[in-house]
Amino acid sequence: MTESTEARHFIQQIIDADIESGKWGQPGDQSVVTTRFPPEPNGYLHLGHTKAICLCCGLAREFGGRFNLRFDDTNPAKEEQEFVDSIKGDIEWLGAQWDGEVLFASDYFEQMYEWARELITKGMAYVDDQTVEQIRAGRGNTKAPGEHSPFRDRSVEENLDLFERMKNGEFENGSKVLRAKIDMNSGNMNLRDPLMYRIVNATHHRTGDTWHIYPMYDWAHGLEDSIEGVTHSLCTLEFEDHRPLYDWFINAINEGRAGGSKIHHSQQIEFSRLALSYTNMSKRYMRQLVEENHVHGWDDPRMITVAGFRRRGYTPESFWMLSEDVGITKFNALVDFSRLENMVREDLNTKAPRRMAVLDPIKLVITNWGEQGDEDRVEPVDGVNHPKDESRGTRPLSFGRELWIEREDFMIDPPKKFFRLGPDREVRLRCGYWVKCHDFKTDADGKVTEVHCTYDPLTKGGNNPPADGEGKVRKVKGTIHWVNADEAVDAEVRMFDRLYNAERPGKETGNHLDDLNPDSLAVVTNAKIEPGLVERTEDEPDWKDGIRRFQFERIGYFCVDTDSTSEKMVFNRTATLRDSWTKKQ
Ligand code: ATP
Ligand code: MG
Repeated sequence: MTESTEARHFIQQIIDADIESGKWGQPGDQSVVTTRFPPEPNGYLHLGHTKAICLCCGLAREFGGRFNLRFDDTNPAKEEQEFVDSIKGDIEWLGAQWDGEVLFASDYFEQMYEWARELITKGMAYVDDQTVEQIRAGRGNTKAPGEHSPFRDRSVEENLDLFERMKNGEFENGSKVLRAKIDMNSGNMNLRDPLMYRIVNATHHRTGDTWHIYPMYDWAHGLEDSIEGVTHSLCTLEFEDHRPLYDWFINAINEGRAGGSKIHHSQQIEFSRLALSYTNMSKRYMRQLVEENHVHGWDDPRMITVAGFRRRGYTPESFWMLSEDVGITKFNALVDFSRLENMVREDLNTKAPRRMAVLDPIKLVITNWGEQGDEDRVEPVDGVNHPKDESRGTRPLSFGRELWIEREDFMIDPPKKFFRLGPDREVRLRCGYWVKCHDFKTDADGKVTEVHCTYDPLTKGGNNPPADGEGKVRKVKGTIHWVNADEAVDAEVRMFDRLYNAERPGKETGNHLDDLNPDSLAVVTNAKIEPGLVERTEDEPDWKDGIRRFQFERIGYFCVDTDSTSEKMVFNRTATLRDSWTKKQ
């Protein structure tokens, strides 16, 4: 490879070395790298999964190899087609298209069963009639050795017979298991005669009622990798202690086989999980949030599911950027949520067209507009689509006597450093004119209802007025956004914030629900938006996923929510313009 080794993470370095030594084939062969992403279809994908996907897919692409999507559907009780579909959709959305067909571990059940029989025949596996509790107790612990099961020395014939009958559904759930015969004194608990199969009399989402035994993860995973010719089987650090077992199973199958008939032996490599502050990356907790209605479904924009982030307006690129940014290491670390937010800001800053929307509107009246009796005059002005990219052009806006501005952009008695509107203060209306306040109106509670200004006709487009007689140019410090009241459209804007208030939800309180942020959603119902936001316009980028994203000037990044109708637009706040959390902490 051409890049320097310093910049390459340890897995890239392993692959570089494998290519050098010709371990999996010659440079340029597709066989040199085959990776897989093996989700269990028992929930929606979350942010952590995107790290594994970007890593596995990224490596396959980098080396011209293969990237498999394989559903690890070995547990019929918890798996559903809904999850298979959502996972596929999420991976495609991320732009991590897998090679070939979608694969399912359940397609290998027959082959795995044959290999299990082979192990029995070699005296390397046995049927155990003990209960789960007895087996657990017999395992011992890290200080105490385990005890042999009374069923450990059954004959090969009896084991084969029982195993077949387990498969055929002759026994109750939990009444028997198949175990590998390894070492009840091993310092690695995983090697103390681990389970290979358990009886589950349940209907599987793909194989129906064919099987009454289901393989355990440790037995199944390496075999699935082997069948697919996976070269580098990448998984998270908690599987490090399982690697000896992963290898033991493959070696056990290969024992006594001649060179050519040995099965493929993939290399398991572990990397650190992605953990993000203010989130809980566990399917169990995510499911609880959904089932107990703490959020509005798996795709609630506050969820850390891929579906939630997508609905919130995150771009696929921001996940690839984060994955790159946090790197691949062997150390678990908590990544700050702001880091992900910075990725989406960075991406949207370049891509999102600018628009104007007022979230907390008050009326601004231009009292010298139409002094010649044409008060209703509406003047076209050009809205700049991107301040740093002229090629993005302009969009038509209109300017008139009454405008909406943001309530917080006016103060009755502003401090010196407030460069927005107040009595006798002048500001630039973005792409409009300069206006100077001379009066305002309040309601009975003293709440401002209207701000009265005059405009300077020489400042069209927001430009500086010409110099006065003495060569002096008048200046303003502040620019505010606005929408022409005449053509403004009402919209709903959902202001999302972090779902949890605590960096590690549940850590101090003992229950993640106690750390839910009560202000994680604030709904603005009467925002005023420019009319061009309603229908897609020519100048909007061609977002691959069809989600329309914008920067609302001075406010943040927003996208059009799927709840929008032709009567009412709904926007989701993707991110604020700046990181306000880091400051708050
Ligand atoms: P569960 O919560 O049921 O244990 P899981 O999150 O581990 O589920 P799987 O479907 O088993 O989900 O995961 C598929 C793949 O994603 C695995 O290879 C796993 O190592 C990887 N993965 C899961 N969570 C993370 C994470 N936080 N960071 C990086 N990779 C992850
Ligand atoms: Mg898992």
